[in-house]
Amino acid sequence: MPCHPARARKLLGRGRAAVLRRYPFTIILRERVGGATQPVRLKVDPGSKATGVVLVNEQTNGTVWAAEVEHRGERIKQALLDRRVLRRGRRARKTRYRKPRFDNRERPEGWLAPSLNSRVQNVLTWVSRLRRLAPVSTLSMELVRFDTQLMQNPEIGGVEYQQGELAGYEVREYLLEKWERRCVYCGKTGVPLQVEHIVPRDRGGGNRVSNLTLACEPCNKKKGNQTAAEFGHPKVQAQARHPLRGAAAVNTTRWALWRALNELGLPLETGTGGRTKYNRARNGYPKGHWIDAAAVGVSGEAVRLGLGHRPLLVKANGWGRRQMCATDKYGFPKQHRTRVKSHFGFQTGDMVHAEVPSGKYAGVHIGRVVVRPRGDFDLKELTSGERFTVNNKHCQPLHRADGYSYATGEPLVAASGEHGTCKAATEDA
Ligand SMILES: [Zn+2]
Repeated sequence: MPCHPARARKLLGRGRAAVLRRYPFTIILRERVGGATQPVRLKVDPGSKATGVVLVNEQTNGTVWAAEVEHRGERIKQALLDRRVLRRGRRARKTRYRKPRFDNRERPEGWLAPSLNSRVQNVLTWVSRLRRLAPVSTLSMELVRFDTQLMQNPEIGGVEYQQGELAGYEVREYLLEKWERRCVYCGKTGVPLQVEHIVPRDRGGGNRVSNLTLACEPCNKKKGNQTAAEFGHPKVQAQARHPLRGAAAVNTTRWALWRALNELGLPLETGTGGRTKYNRARNGYPKGHWIDAAAVGVSGEAVRLGLGHRPLLVKANGWGRRQMCATDKYGFPKQHRTRVKSHFGFQTGDMVHAEVPSGKYAGVHIGRVVVRPRGDFDLKELTSGERFTVNNKHCQPLHRADGYSYATGEPLVAASGEHGTCKAATEDA
C-alpha cells in the first residue's frame, strides 16, 4: 500500500522494512504479512511522446504516486530507417542478381507499426509492474479526444456551446481536431483559439457544431459580422459542412491499449480528452502528463493532487541493439559486436551508487552506467546529468537495467487558477 515518504523513512530507520525496488521506490515490511490495504485506481493518459501514470487512493481520492513514461517511438522509427538505408545500400552495391523473394508476407490483424506498438507495450509494462507492487483494483484511461454523443446532443448543441461546461470542452476538442489546431483564417498555431461562428448568429447561423470553427482573437475581431465566405474564406464554409470522419478521430494506438487493458480483467473506466481538460481546469491544476492522467474520466473530477509530489520520470531505452556489425558511412564493416553484455557484474543501463575516492568527481554519485570491457565505466549522474568515468571497483548496484532510465521530476508547487480562462481553447496535446 503506497505510504507517505516520512512513514517509509521511519519504517526503514527502525529496521522494520527493507528496500524492495529502487524505481519505483518500494519497501517491503519485515514482520507483518497481509494487513489492511485500500483500493488504488491506476490512471493513464496515453500520449504520443509521453504517457502520464498515476495511482489514486480510491477512498481519499488523493494521488499517491505519479510517473511520466517517455516513449521511444521516434527513436525506433529512426533505427528502422537507418537499417533500411544500410540494406538498400548493400543491395545496390552487390553486382550479382538475386531473384526477389516470393512475396507471401502479410500483416496480422491488429498490426501496429513498431513505433506505435512500443508505446502500447511501455504502458502495459508499467501497468503490470504497478499491479505487482500496489493493490490496484480499477483502471482508468483517456480513450478518445471527444465524446460525439455528448456533443451532438441537441439539448447541449442547440442552446449554447456552453463555455466552461463539460459539453463545451468536448466541442472544443472536436473543433481542435477538425480544424487541425490552427486559426482557420490566418493559419497561426500555438496561439489561444476562440470558438467562432462561420455564419454569425444574427445572420441566421446556428450554434450547431457544423457552424463552428476556431480562430485567433485578431481574426475573430476582424471578421466581425461577416460570414466566412464574405471574409474571403469560402473553403472554410464548404469544409464546415463535412463532419470529421470517424477514422480521423480514432487513435489506433489508444484503442490497441484499450483492448489490451480490457484483457486484464479489471474494471476499466474510459474518459475523453474534453473531460480531462474540464476536470483539470475546474480544479485549477496546471498542465502536465501526470496531472492529466489524474484528471482522466469521471473519477478525475474529485481527485486531489498531492502538493510537493515529485513524479518519477521514466524514459524508455529498450534493451540494447541487435546489430552485429557496425559500418562506416560507406557501409563498410567497421567493428563487430562483442558477445559479452556484462562486465564485472554490471550491464549497460544499471543504476549504481558510486563512491569516487579522488579527482575532480570525488564524492558519492548515483547514476546510470555504460559498461566498458576494461573496467572504467561511463557514468551519467542522475540529478546533474554530468558524465564522467568511474572504475567498476567504486560502483555498487542499485537497480538492474530494466529497459528504462529514471529521474525525478519537478514538484507541483502551487495550483495556478485556470478558472474563467476557459473561453480560449489553446493548442495543447
Ligand atoms: Zn487568425
